[in-house]
Amino acid sequence: MAILGEFEYKNPGLFEESGVRVTPATIITGPNFLSRVFSKLLLDYSHSCAKMVPMFKLLGSLLDSNEREVKKLLPIVEATNSHEADYKKLSAAKLKALTGTFRKRLEEGETLDELLPEAFAATREAARRTIGQRHFDVQIMGGAVLHSGRIAEMRTGEGKTLVATLPLYLNALEEKGVHLVTVNDYLAKRDAEWMGPIFHALGVSVGVINHETSFVFDPNPQTPSTEETEMTMDPKDSLSPEQEGLGVGKFLRAVSRKEAYLADITYGTNNEFGFDYLRDNMVQDIHDMVQRSLNFAIVDEVDSILIDEARTPLIISQQAEESTEKYYDFAKIIEKLELETDYVVDEKMKAANLTEIGISKIERLTGVDNLYEKDFDSIHHIEEALKAKTLFLKDRDYIVKDGEVVIVDEFTGRLMPGRRYSEGLHQAIEAKEGVEIQRESQTLATISFQNYFRLYSKIAGMTGTADTSAEEFHKVYKLDVVIIPTNKPAVRDDLPDSAYKTDRAKYEAIIEDINDRHKKGQPVLVGTTSIEKNELLGDLLKRKGVPHQLLNAKNHLKEAQIISEAGQKGAVTLATNIAGRGVDIKLGEGVAKLGGLHVIGSERHEARRIDNQLRGRSGRQGDPGSTKFYVSLQDDIMRLFGGDAVTGVMNAFKMPDNVPIEAGLVSRAIEGAQSRVEGHNFDIRKRVVEYDDVMNKQREIIYSMRKEILELGDRQNPNKEEAQKELQERLTSRISDEVDQLVTSSVGEAETFDADRIVNEFNTIIPFDEASKKGLLEKVKAEANPDKVKDFLSEITTQVYTQREEQFGSELMREIEKLVMVSVIDTLWISHLDDIEELREGVGLRGYAGKDPLVEYKSEAFRMFEQLVDSIDHEIVQRIYKIQVQPQQATPTNQTTTTSSSSSAFQAKPTPKLKAADKVGRNDPCPCGSGLKYKKCGLVNSQTHQEHLAKVNA
Ligand code: ADP
Ligand code: MG
Repeated sequence: MAILGEFEYKNPGLFEESGVRVTPATIITGPNFLSRVFSKLLLDYSHSCAKMVPMFKLLGSLLDSNEREVKKLLPIVEATNSHEADYKKLSAAKLKALTGTFRKRLEEGETLDELLPEAFAATREAARRTIGQRHFDVQIMGGAVLHSGRIAEMRTGEGKTLVATLPLYLNALEEKGVHLVTVNDYLAKRDAEWMGPIFHALGVSVGVINHETSFVFDPNPQTPSTEETEMTMDPKDSLSPEQEGLGVGKFLRAVSRKEAYLADITYGTNNEFGFDYLRDNMVQDIHDMVQRSLNFAIVDEVDSILIDEARTPLIISQQAEESTEKYYDFAKIIEKLELETDYVVDEKMKAANLTEIGISKIERLTGVDNLYEKDFDSIHHIEEALKAKTLFLKDRDYIVKDGEVVIVDEFTGRLMPGRRYSEGLHQAIEAKEGVEIQRESQTLATISFQNYFRLYSKIAGMTGTADTSAEEFHKVYKLDVVIIPTNKPAVRDDLPDSAYKTDRAKYEAIIEDINDRHKKGQPVLVGTTSIEKNELLGDLLKRKGVPHQLLNAKNHLKEAQIISEAGQKGAVTLATNIAGRGVDIKLGEGVAKLGGLHVIGSERHEARRIDNQLRGRSGRQGDPGSTKFYVSLQDDIMRLFGGDAVTGVMNAFKMPDNVPIEAGLVSRAIEGAQSRVEGHNFDIRKRVVEYDDVMNKQREIIYSMRKEILELGDRQNPNKEEAQKELQERLTSRISDEVDQLVTSSVGEAETFDADRIVNEFNTIIPFDEASKKGLLEKVKAEANPDKVKDFLSEITTQVYTQREEQFGSELMREIEKLVMVSVIDTLWISHLDDIEELREGVGLRGYAGKDPLVEYKSEAFRMFEQLVDSIDHEIVQRIYKIQVQPQQATPTNQTTTTSSSSSAFQAKPTPKLKAADKVGRNDPCPCGSGLKYKKCGLVNSQTHQEHLAKVNA
């Protein structure tokens, strides 16, 4: 561990903190969502005796305890209110100066909690002056909940955007960076521009992270200053940010990403924050990192991000740029070859090799002579094509289904959709079968949202719908939910569901309902679970001649503008569940008298939470409104989970298709079904997170290793000398460990040692010419005992190192050290990611042998990680003496890496090993010189491998 320092990862059983994630394999979307979820569940969990978790039985007692929590917030509100009169009198300059005062008091030892009432009062005053909105008392409560690192459940329209400004400002006082996480780029911009004036008045800066651009808030100099102007607007008259045209960047100035992160407060999406984290851990220079350490994040729509989106981990991958055409060409070539003359097959060994005749034939066909020397890549693919033809049989090893090659598991006969053979074999089979060839992509870095957000010192969340998932938030994220009362009493009317026998009857009823209300002028918002159904309803409305707007979450900005108008008289808006989320729907003139906004759900979603989100679109801030869900026995949720009771009733009474039942029975049956599906999903996510935790720990260790190296090797490090010395010491002590090991492993009985072997292996660390090697061998043979040999060799390593340092200069040498260490870590880590993925897929099968796959996975992953760390050390020593420095103009080879920070290019000189090593580790480079790891070379029994080897040994 000399190079990398101590690492903490001791026992895989120790990471018991949980988190939730569903692997990519279980991301299921599309029309048959539920049925696929369900069959997936059966497949995956039939062997692990999945329990259905009764999740929400505690609701009653939860409410009581919620009341207690809310009561505890009252003194905070009072304390905040007590500063109001004084702050109202402050000049704009004095108000701004409060920030400096607060920061000073923090430095002097006061805590954020102590500063809370004053900081909240200051924010409230700034908001009143700038955007004309004074935080309501319930908003102060919500702010306090967020500051305490919990989830504030506040209904849609309660003003969560404004609530967040309180804890954002308070925590920004610490100057460690505070993040506000939104679900899309548009909302990040909108909220920053909307709330920007508040922060500006307090003298704190605001940044925005968007997909490709980043910004800071910059109040337009042309707009008259709002300082000192008293804005006592009635909130009813104030414009929505969409009406004011916010969110398009009027008040944003483009800056570097790093600058946006250096702002006191940064708004951005979960994706961008997560990707920046991953990218930061791939940089070659510490100054290219853009994020500061992750301090405090407030996650808006927290249930969407931590539960719904948590199904998809973030992945940075690299797609093979190879053209897929060549696979078809190779498959054609193979067709022209004949068994025995051109190639031989050994079925038992699962090997197929080209003969001399076969090779010349291919060379004739491709027009390339001496293929093995000139085109290693092609020959590799040709061999894979040969294997595909001779060893892999359709309907035994794989099947072809919907134009895809699906592997059949050889032990269980199960289909393994989504899995692929590696090293181009899968493509070769695709070419053989004439189906479309999928490109291979390699994962370079990946993290799930759960694990990303767990990196923050503190997180908080807000949403209108958290309580039905309170248990999951608590168990997985240790986030408690506090339900904040509404500012005004809610009067929305949630009508009972109507159940129809068929989809057709259901849609007819929906259209009828829309049409009736539309004729009165009442606005209607219809939610659907998919784009498909959204469009279907659109067609039906068109036929009926009802004008409407169609939204399906493709263009966030445009949809925001449309949906903000959904409360106007006569508006009919069809939206998928997530379209236009985060956007407030204000009622138009006279709409309240017509009953407010009517929301129609065209189907119950699998989670009650999503249904509640849709209902929440109506009845904001004490507005009138109504909601109603239409269901049919053909809906997925009814068919699969809960329809029996309802179907029974309908059949018993011989009800016609177009007569619905609207009994409590229906809603009860549906909610029972939903809670079962929720339980299932929770179960999956919980199980998967246990797997994920293992990787998480490993990623943390590797990332901190590489970061430490970048810091130590940083030319601008204030303690540069010390740091570089430390870095160099780690390296040299590893070198001497390696030499020790090398000698020790060659020691026989009674102090005898195998000098040839020692010298050969030593030569893989420092390549010598033949003459020096001979001299070395004699010297080693002459030594009295292994310890002496160790000393002797160690001396050589030091000498050579010093020579190289003189040759390159110490500055460059340090750069080389940093580069070698980091690139070795990266290469091996990326291949480890692959290996772990393979393991994860593989252990599922061992479950059948009566073993707990998770236990197997943990211990195997732990073992592989130990091996990874060893290989990293080993590989670094293997490379450090082989790096050559050439002027920039040097002919580029495929092994050249150029760093932007130095004027030279480093080139790893390929130094072939002298012999096929006696014992090649699976992670060692294959001695045949293919450049692949031994285990990955896949050519061990192949002609190529033999030939390369022969050449090397010649
Ligand atoms: P949420 O995110 O909770 O659904 P928003 O932040 O979108 O709610 O705010 C909803 C509406 O309420 C906005 O139009 C906003 O201007 C208004 N609003 C919020 N807080 C206040 C307040 N304290 N005074 C006046 N209007 C407010
Ligand atoms: Mg919102």
